[in-house]
Amino acid sequence: MTASDLSGETYGFAAPRGRVYDSITNVVGGTPLVAIPHQSEEDELTARVLLKLEFFNPLGSVKDRIGTAMVLAAEKEGRITPGRTVLVEPTSGNTGISLAFVAAARGYRLVVTMPEGASIERRRMLRLMDAQVELTPARMGMAGAIARANEILNETPDAWMPDQFDNDANPAVHAATTAQEIWVDTAGKVDVVVAGVGTGGTATGIAEALKKHRKDIQVFGVEPAESAILNGDEPGPHGIQGIGPGFCPATLHTKSLNGVLTVSEREAIAAARRCARLDGIPVGISSGAALHAALQLAKKPEYAGKTIVAIAPSFAERYLSTSLFNGL
Ligand code: PMP
Repeated sequence: MTASDLSGETYGFAAPRGRVYDSITNVVGGTPLVAIPHQSEEDELTARVLLKLEFFNPLGSVKDRIGTAMVLAAEKEGRITPGRTVLVEPTSGNTGISLAFVAAARGYRLVVTMPEGASIERRRMLRLMDAQVELTPARMGMAGAIARANEILNETPDAWMPDQFDNDANPAVHAATTAQEIWVDTAGKVDVVVAGVGTGGTATGIAEALKKHRKDIQVFGVEPAESAILNGDEPGPHGIQGIGPGFCPATLHTKSLNGVLTVSEREAIAAARRCARLDGIPVGISSGAALHAALQLAKKPEYAGKTIVAIAPSFAERYLSTSLFNGL
């Protein structure tokens, strides 16, 4: 190769985007679908399993889609105004970080309430983007954070809560973007999608949109075995952050799904670690849960020759202080 050979094709890299972006919020979506050749070989799979890598979003998780979509939808409805409205959301997870970048980029103040004990990395990321973080007593859990957010909402003139668990813009953005990206990138050759259920927005939006393309596409949710409420069990503590909220949210339409599979924390972590080790893709714990469920399906004879897409919501590094890294 010579220095004058300036094509990325030599390296097998992605093509240039052919545009510049006016705002960081325009960079959301368009995440890649990637094969897992070494895991597939080790498992002797005949089905094709692909991961949709949502950590390619600007702030590193699937939540960048809803953070942006909920704010844009409320602006369009005239409910919120940049420079005036204060956004308030109870969240200890990726949604806060996503709302923070959108709030900074579009000119809103953001208050995030979360139980004390949420990781220091998250709190600092929020503060870096100028969000206000209000910690609530750990013993009250998420209920305490929700109660405090409601108090702030009532005390503050022109405050608005995106409320990811009860906002139609959540499943809608996955129907309009995540699902269509899967359809286009596989050239319509997708048979199954597996997605962890937190708010249920990802699984619901993908299911409702893909089934309009082809009715026989199957979409499965995934919930923690330790808190399998969608399978009739009691809610319980578990370590798969982002999924298994312990109730059935309005943003989850179970009727649109072909079923909800259960994966234990131990299985999720084992799958996430193996994905990093064998294929060089360090995913988060809930990604490990979706991947484990997808591999279980792929090993069944009835899925021979099928294409199964597992949604990988986030990157391993966001879980440095969790059991994902135990002993490392
Ligand atoms: N995994 C992670 C890491 C998440 O942050 C989320 C979003 N809470 C999910 C999975 C589940 O996505 P959804 O809320 O769309 O069901």
